[in-house]
Amino acid sequence: MSENIFKIVYVIGFVAGSVIRNSCVSRVPRWWKKKQNLVQEKESALDKLIMIPVFLGMVVIPILYLVTSWLDAVDYHLPNWAGFVAGGFGVVFFALALWFLWRSHFDLGHNFSPELKIKENHDLVTSGVYAHIRHPMYLAHFLWAIGQALLLQNWIAGWAFLVAFFPVYLQRYQKEEKMLSDQFGEEYRAYIRRTGRILPRFRR
Ligand code: SAH
Repeated sequence: MSENIFKIVYVIGFVAGSVIRNSCVSRVPRWWKKKQNLVQEKESALDKLIMIPVFLGMVVIPILYLVTSWLDAVDYHLPNWAGFVAGGFGVVFFALALWFLWRSHFDLGHNFSPELKIKENHDLVTSGVYAHIRHPMYLAHFLWAIGQALLLQNWIAGWAFLVAFFPVYLQRYQKEEKMLSDQFGEEYRAYIRRTGRILPRFRR
């Protein structure tokens, strides 16, 4: 029974996340599409390619799982109490994901882009949630992926996003930090020294 409750919770979280993402992105002029405004362009064809499994794991596979029976063979069934514990944590992770998603968009403002690019008049954001961690939006993706795994009791639909996102994160944050370091120099390197990547740095 808990399976169905948490599937509904997942759908609510998914829709809320999509609304947050779309309304935040629609407020940013799509500067990453205008070549003449760019001062750095690091998004390669490979960077775009490895986003395909992420999109499949985050969007396509869960939707197929929810609307067809194709993936039912790889369902697992936790005992009811364990399903509720997992689902309870899933709700918390998903709620945190939504908060970090909104907050990171809010703080990054017009500097946001879905591609690894820097524009003219790009500001280095070091305030708000960025005062503590450098990649709150990627943290939101991890929290979403873990929430998904806890809410959907299916080996593929539950875990696909986490499995697809982890290597992308490892590759992407390094490239992004190099790009920002080339752009902002010592200011960015000092920022790295006082912040954590996705978890706050507790020791100075
Ligand atoms: N990695 C960040 C931002 C993701 S959006 C996060 O997880 O929150 C990706 C774009 O944001 C990159 O193309 C880069 O230009 C920009 N960016 C990342 N960190 C930034 C910062 N501290 N200030 C300004 N722009 C930043």
